[in-house]
Amino acid sequence: MSVMQAKQMSDFCTDFCRIFPDAKARIRIDEPMSGHSTFKVGGKADYLLSVASGEELAAAIKIASEAGIPITVLGNGSNILVSDKGIRGLVLVIGKDMASVSVEGDNILKAEAGALLSVVSKYAASYDLAGMEFASGIPGTVGGAVYMNAGAYGGCMEDIVIGSVGLDADKLEVFELKDTGSHKFGYRKSFFAGENAFVLSVKMRLEIGDPDEIKAKMDEFTARRRSSQPLELPSAGSTFKRPEGFYAGRLIEDSGLKGYRVGGACVSQKHAGFIVNDKGATATDILALIDHVKDTVYGRTGVMLEPEVRILGEW
Ligand SMILES: Cc1cc2nc3c(=O)[nH]c(=O)nc-3n(C[C@H](O)[C@H](O)[C@H](O)COP(=O)(O)OP(=O)(O)OC[C@H]3O[C@@H](n4cnc5c(N)ncnc54)[C@H](O)[C@@H]3O)c2cc1C
Repeated sequence: MSVMQAKQMSDFCTDFCRIFPDAKARIRIDEPMSGHSTFKVGGKADYLLSVASGEELAAAIKIASEAGIPITVLGNGSNILVSDKGIRGLVLVIGKDMASVSVEGDNILKAEAGALLSVVSKYAASYDLAGMEFASGIPGTVGGAVYMNAGAYGGCMEDIVIGSVGLDADKLEVFELKDTGSHKFGYRKSFFAGENAFVLSVKMRLEIGDPDEIKAKMDEFTARRRSSQPLELPSAGSTFKRPEGFYAGRLIEDSGLKGYRVGGACVSQKHAGFIVNDKGATATDILALIDHVKDTVYGRTGVMLEPEVRILGEW
């Protein structure tokens, strides 16, 4: 960070903490991003703030943009690759400090964007509410899951989301999406992925289910994940999107890349769709491996893989 950037950031803290004094304890300086990414790689973020409300998020974006400080918004960091040089400016985390969950009438679950899917699924199950079992093993937040319409085992966020509250980061206005259709869900995308807007809270409609069946389904999905995915090693889940008509993992395996390695990064032996950090990989190793996999699969099959993982920071 240059002297000028350090001054900008310190002014940001002063201005922000004047409005939200409690936030001081949630601001980190030179924060290693390896602790905020399931890949366990990434250099330092100049500043990182875990926000506690939509008001804080809006104020942080306003003050930072007026000062010319770049911002990056994250949830649980389970779908990102952060550069070894880290992230300049301010990282805003919508996570554990904005994570309340409640049940409303008509089997509707309301969750703040930072709530973890695993926690929300268990919460739903504790009220005998079915429909979120598919999400119980996805290690992201509700906001991150809506952003990319996360899904697994035949279910996805589109099936359950009936409304959300978001923040328009350009106008700094809170808005509401009042039905599923206005979220413009598609395969691994949503309204939020195409706009400078962030999810603050989400409403999901579930249905009353049999508690034993809900638990059995969650256990079955967990067992299937454990047996087919390299959960014992840091990764960001499926590295690539599913190309139409193909499975990325199958194309990678058929291209002879299972176990292929760059430095400490490796195409998982257990599931070729996952790149894992098994020997102290750097982000550079992982990105080089992503590029190698893309080039090789394209050369052998003519299919261009597109990373599902968001590549962030200063490269
Ligand atoms: C072991 C493992 C298994 C996985 N299995 C699955 C799976 O089965 N299915 C699946 O779909 N994914 C899976 N994933 C990927 C990941 O968990 C999901 O993509 C998840 O939805 C990402 O949420 P996050 O909070 O971690 O987002 P992050 O990784 O923090 O961010 C990802 C993107 O979402 C944006 N974002 C985050 N929060 C918000 C918000 N509140 N508002 C707007 N944008 C936001 C960020 O800006 C960023 O662009 C897996 C990952 C791992 C590590």
